[in-house]
Amino acid sequence: MKRIIVASNNAHKIKEIKQILEALEFEVISLKEAGINVDVEENGNTFMENAYIKASEIHKLHKEDLILADDSGLMVDVLGGAPGVYSARYAGEHGNDKKNNEKLLAELKGKKIEERTARFVCAMVLITDDERVIKVQGEIEGYIKEELSGGGGFGYDPLFYVPEYEMTFGEMTEEMKNSISHRSRALSKLKEELQKIK
Ligand code: IMP
Repeated sequence: MKRIIVASNNAHKIKEIKQILEALEFEVISLKEAGINVDVEENGNTFMENAYIKASEIHKLHKEDLILADDSGLMVDVLGGAPGVYSARYAGEHGNDKKNNEKLLAELKGKKIEERTARFVCAMVLITDDERVIKVQGEIEGYIKEELSGGGGFGYDPLFYVPEYEMTFGEMTEEMKNSISHRSRALSKLKEELQKIK
C-alpha cells in the first residue's frame, strides 16, 4: 500500500484526512509517524504558496512516499482578505485563538452584518512519488458574528456563522463541521484527483 505523509502533526487534521483518503487504500501517516522532524518556514503570500513550500521541502527528504501539505485560514472581505496567511498569529502570538478572535471583533466593530462577509480557505498540495503535483482548494462562505457562539472546534470557529445552517462552526458537531468545511471540500477534490492517477 502506498503511503501518504501528511505534513502536519495536528491530530484533528490527520484524523479527518485519514477518514477520507484511507478509503482509497493509501496509508495516511503524520510527520512524526514518518520519523520526520523539520520546521518549514511558511513565508508565502497565499495559502497555496505555503502549502507548496511545505510539501516540496518534505518531498526533498522523502521521495519514496506521497507528501500532502495544507495551509488554511480565514479571509474577511472588508479587511482586504485579512487575517489570511496570518490567521494563526493575527494578534501577534502564534496560536492564541482568544486574542485572535478579540482582535477580529475589534477590527469589525461597528460593521453591519452585510459588511461582515468572510470565507475559510484550505489549500492542499500533494506531491507524488513520481513527482506529480496536485493542487486543490476548498472554501466555505459565511459571516463574522458580533460575539462568540459555541464552544466546539478551534480558532475562529465560534465567530464563523454559516447562514444555511444558522449556526457558527463553534456550535456545530465535529461531524457537521467536517461535512461542509473548507478542509473537507479541498479533500473531496483531492480524492477525485487521486482516483484519476491510481
Ligand atoms: P493552519 O492551516 O493549521 O496553519 O491554520 C491556520 C489558522 O487558520 C489556524 O490557527 C486558525 O486560526 C485558522 N483556521 C484554519 N482552519 C480553521 C477552522 O476550521 N476553524 C477555525 N479556524 C481555522
